[in-house]
Amino acid sequence: MKIIQNEITVSTRGHNDIKDLTPEVQRQLQASGLREGQALVFVQGSTAGVTTIEYEPGLVQDLSELLEKLVPQNRSYHHDQRWGDANGFSHLRASLFGPSLQVPFSGGRLRLGTWQQIILVDFDNRPRTRNILLQFLGE
Ligand code: ZN
Repeated sequence: MKIIQNEITVSTRGHNDIKDLTPEVQRQLQASGLREGQALVFVQGSTAGVTTIEYEPGLVQDLSELLEKLVPQNRSYHHDQRWGDANGFSHLRASLFGPSLQVPFSGGRLRLGTWQQIILVDFDNRPRTRNILLQFLGE
């Protein structure tokens, strides 16, 4: 059993900007040489999340609209009163999604569904540079 660690850095526009991480995670899995195991994808930071979706423009827009309904941007949150960075909604959205995802792999391939991609969602209210940590655990 081995653990191979790596990172992905991406620039986002914030405001629910979604990045498809699948090709890069798969590329790094192949480079690790591991065949069977689990991939952990973890974003550092409290205003971004990692999940899966069918990555197509309709759903990307649906997700943005759902977030606006669940945690609207245009209301006041206690965090905003304490910190003044006006991104209470970003933190709450990030907590709902969580920062990480585990995906099994076998034969050196991520075992995702055909229409299932690994995405980073940046909920912050400004552009950000994001560090995503990858851990491949397996043999
Ligand atoms: Zn904040």
